This record gives sequence, structure tokens and C-alpha cells, in this order.
Amino acid sequence: MIDSTLPTQIDPLGARTERQQRLEALRSQFTGLDTEYPLADDTTARRIYLDSAASNLRLTVADDVVRRALRHYANTHSQLHFGARVMTHLYHRAHEIVGDFVDASDDYTVIFNGSGVTGGLNRTARVLAERRPERDLVITTMMEHHANDLPHRKHVGEVVHVPLEKDPDGEAGRVDMAALRAAIQEHADRLNYVAVTAASNVTGVINPVHKIASMAHEVGALCVVDAAQSAAHLPFSVQGGAEDEAIDVLCMSGHKIYAPGSPGAIVARKALFEGLEPQEVGGGIVNRVETDRYEIMEELPEREEAGTPNLPGALRLAATLYLLGRIGMDVIEEDERTLTQYALERFEAIDGLQIYGSHRLEVADRIGVITFNLDDLPHGLVTAALNDYFGIAVRNECFCAQPFVRELLGRTGGEGASSTEGECAPDSQPGMVRVSFGLYNTKEDVDAAADALADIAARPDEYRAQYRPLLNGSGDWTHRTFEYPPEEAFSMEDEIDDWLRSA
Ligand code: PMP
Repeated sequence: MIDSTLPTQIDPLGARTERQQRLEALRSQFTGLDTEYPLADDTTARRIYLDSAASNLRLTVADDVVRRALRHYANTHSQLHFGARVMTHLYHRAHEIVGDFVDASDDYTVIFNGSGVTGGLNRTARVLAERRPERDLVITTMMEHHANDLPHRKHVGEVVHVPLEKDPDGEAGRVDMAALRAAIQEHADRLNYVAVTAASNVTGVINPVHKIASMAHEVGALCVVDAAQSAAHLPFSVQGGAEDEAIDVLCMSGHKIYAPGSPGAIVARKALFEGLEPQEVGGGIVNRVETDRYEIMEELPEREEAGTPNLPGALRLAATLYLLGRIGMDVIEEDERTLTQYALERFEAIDGLQIYGSHRLEVADRIGVITFNLDDLPHGLVTAALNDYFGIAVRNECFCAQPFVRELLGRTGGEGASSTEGECAPDSQPGMVRVSFGLYNTKEDVDAAADALADIAARPDEYRAQYRPLLNGSGDWTHRTFEYPPEEAFSMEDEIDDWLRSA
């Protein structure tokens, strides 16, 4: 749990029981929950979406609010007409709401950037490398997504990967704090920052990021947090409980916060971005331009947001975060924890199903992400069968965390896991299956997934007979006879033509 005692600055609306009731009401308010697909047994089913760690579904309430706001739509770079003034105000509020959601004080700036954490971390790495060129080393952990590893290698220099703790069962848990402290001390002079994920996209395990920040600060290093997986699932304060625990840069992805189509957000200490040449230059960020020189405005975030912003996306993100904040992230966290505990219990009871990473929430708490393999069956086949026979959407392969997945697979084995010595992409097949939750998921969804997995585990040969490997190195499998051509599912051209004909 990350500092859930700390209040976010968006005050929850009403008593806890009221907020729990509102959360219940919210569960059905997402686009795509009632989408139906044909199944391999000639039936049709409403899909069960268990792939929220990849992207979660869009909150219709926020969408509706944004649609109404867009009646004022205009470019924020226009100044005087009413629409432009309304939009400029709303865009400004969007920055403030994102900052409030993570309890950012006036020392921080919120920059909308790209479409997710990848853009944010690349930008952060470039800025911190330029800001502190004498510090050419970054410490990160073994559980990182490639987005929280490769940008540091590319822009800063050397990256040291700290191992993870093992729980009493020998399963990987949080970052090993003793090893981290040792690495920080060893590289104190060169260490620019520690870059750590708040929660793993592979095991769901939550890291103590404020303690990590405090350790980094002791040697003059910074702390950069990847909040891709945590932002929509846990209460969070960038300031932490004490001055030395404050996070220096936090990156979030809008598409993982029930707001696909929105930008990513960087919440950073202003001092880190101030005074540097902006990462991108162009319109909207300059005081004066001559043919031979230009002067960039000083204000943040304006100087880091050249060009016309993704206004609808930014508003959608802010409206969504405001709604989550008003329900209360404490209630949201508790709700997901209950579902995760239930899912772990149901999955653990399935013969031949191995879960990766610590399953003991009391030792290594986790968000609603569970990865596993079934003995005797490849991850790609299990994932395809869940989709084709049960209408259950989950993710497989290596989740853009190859070193970590490889390490987890090396330890446990199983066919899904290790048809070639724990190797992982691009031209070998191992990986895992991942189930991940959003606010819309219920115990019924977990039951459906557990029953489906139990059925697949009980009849591996029957399922295997229905599938063939794709042989493209992905580890994916396809049904031998059942087909669902995506082009038949939806045609934008047909929709438009229908409208034109009826116009
Ligand atoms: N970090 C983590 C932990 C993630 O799960 C992801 C997305 N899977 C990313 C970073 C990258 O985020 P995005 O794809 O939004 O850039």
C-alpha cells in the first residue's frame, strides 16, 4: 500500500458507505462492457474484459462531460473569443486537477505529453541527463517495463538493475531495499536518479517508492516514479509524508486511467525543467521570434507544451481523475484488493496453474494484476482459448518486461513458461498469461475466468487439438477452424456511408 493514509487533494465526496455505493453505480459506466462477440462453439457472449493493465475502458461519465465542454471547442492559442477563453480556462484546470489528484504542491508542474508513460519517461530522461550531465548512471529495478529502462540507457548512460526480494515461498516481491541501498551507496557520485515503478505490470507488486525516494535523496540523487499501473488503482501523494520522501518526477498514462485518447502526464518538480531549452519548440511557447533568434516564455508548463494541445484528451483525463478522486482512491484501492484476493484464491485452487510473484498480499501487496501459466499448455494457446471459447480478454507474452519475465520463468518452468530455457521474444515462444482488473470487474468475472481456466486445465489435449502455433516467433496460437475477421466487426466507412444515406 502506498501512503494511503495521505489524503489526495481532491476531497472525496460524502461518507465512505456513500462512496462505496457510488462506486457500485459507476461499474456499469464504461464504454465497451456490453460488446458481444461470437464464440467458437457457435454461441455469442458479452465479452469479459480482463486486460486493464494494457489499457482500461473509457469512463462514459467523463466522456459525456467532455462532449458538453466541447460545445465551446476552440484552440487554446486563440485569445479573445468566448470559446477560446473557456477552453483555455478548462485546459488550465485540467493541469490543476491532475496535480491535485497526486497531491502536487506549487513546487510541481504538470506537463501533458505524448500518449503515455513511454513519452514521459523519455522526456524525463533527456531532461535529467541535460540538467545533471556529471551524473551518468541510473538505478532501476528488475521488475521494470522497458519504458522505465531503455530511455535511461539511451539518454543518461549506464543503468544498474537492482534485484527483488523473495517472499517466504521464494516468489519475487518488491524491490530488495538492502540491495538498493547498497547500489545507491556504491554509485553515489554518478547516480542521477532512481527510476522505479510504483506497481509492476507483471506481478502487480507495489514498491515503497517514498522510502526509495528518501534513500536516493540521501546521496543527492532524484527519484522518478513510473505510475502507469498504480495511478488508477492506488491513492498517491507525490509529496509523501516528509520532505525527503517527495517524488521528483511522476509519469502517468491516460489510457490506463479510464481515459483512452488522452495524453500522458508528467508531474515534476518545476526546478528540474526550468531554464532548460524546451524539448520541443514551435508555436504557443514563445515571447518573441525574429528570423535570427527567438525567446521562449518562462512559464511552466507552457514552455514544455509547444503546439496545439490534445484538448479533448486532457479534459477527459482530468474529468476522469476528478471523478476517481471524488469517489476516493481509498475506496477504489480497497475494492480492487478484495477482488484480487478473491481471484488469487480461486486461481490458486486450479490444478496445474502457477501464479508468478508473491501471492501473499500481507508480505508484498499488489494491485489487480495476476500472471500465470497452466502446466502443459502454451500461454498463447490458453489466451486464445479464453477468448475463443469464453469471451474473456486477457494478455499474454512478456508484457514489455522481458528481463523480469525471463527471470520469473527461469525459476518456475512449465511448458507455457519455458519451451526454450526462459528465453523471451523476439523469435522464441515463452511468456505468461495476465489477468488484470479495472473498476468494472466483479467477482462474477473472476468466477468466469477461474471456471474457464479450470476447464482448459482439465482438458489440455482437447484444447490443444483445436489450435496451431502461429510460427511467427510470438508464442501465439490460432484456432484451426474458428475465425473472427476483425474487418467484419466494425467498418468506419460503412458507418459513415449509412449516415450519409440517411442524411
Ligand atoms: N510502465 C508500465 C509499468 C506499464 O505497464 C506500461 C504500459 N504497459 C508502461 C510503462 C508504458 O506505458 P505507455 O504504453 O502508456 O507508454
